[in-house]
Amino acid sequence: MLGALGHDRARVTLIEVADAEARDALPTLTPLTETPLNLPEPEKRTRFNRVLARLAELGSPIGERVAMPLGAAYGAIQVDSDACTLCHACVSNCPTPALKSGGKTPALSFLEADCVQCGLCEQACPENAITLMPGFLASSARETRHICHEEAAFECINCGKPFATVSTVATIKQKLANHPYFAGEAMIRLEMCEDCRVKDVWKTMIRDPDAQLKV
Ligand code: SF4
Ligand code: SF4
Repeated sequence: MLGALGHDRARVTLIEVADAEARDALPTLTPLTETPLNLPEPEKRTRFNRVLARLAELGSPIGERVAMPLGAAYGAIQVDSDACTLCHACVSNCPTPALKSGGKTPALSFLEADCVQCGLCEQACPENAITLMPGFLASSARETRHICHEEAAFECINCGKPFATVSTVATIKQKLANHPYFAGEAMIRLEMCEDCRVKDVWKTMIRDPDAQLKV
């Protein structure tokens, strides 16, 4: 990592506990800076990310992804936009803040600095839309959250409330096309929000109390 950030790798060396000579030896390299880095953040990963960002400022990052030992907690993910339905199962399973939903806008965003390459998002994705990209990115891009995928919201055909994405509704309609509960005109309930769908079911039951028994 030091090399990828443009520093002499000899700045960090491991020494044996019993090696008093190495322990007491004077530094051979001049300090990078006289200004100490204040790290009040309680999270270890956040503190380490700040150290890496500072080393990047003081060095000359190569701007590329470099290989790390197998299982190292550095890397990105690739999201297949054509496959992603913005179900956010990956966000629910991500143990760090690396993956986030878009709030009011249907979107999925990613911050590489927080990704520990655990692979839980890849395993949770029902669409197989996620691929892990292991390696340390020696660039400020790892500190920038970016949008992996976003879509227009699908608005309830009854009340206009946005309740899902266009692709999610299309997928559900396709999967439930032959379900008896949504047969005939009832299929339009899949284009309604939860509240309007329940109201529509009740209206049908009032008109035809035996309707549900026929399903
Ligand atoms: S990447 Fe997969 S799990 Fe994440 S929102 Fe898209 S479809 Fe859902
Ligand atoms: S690999 Fe792990 S940490 Fe990285 S985005 Fe996926 S779930 Fe989050």
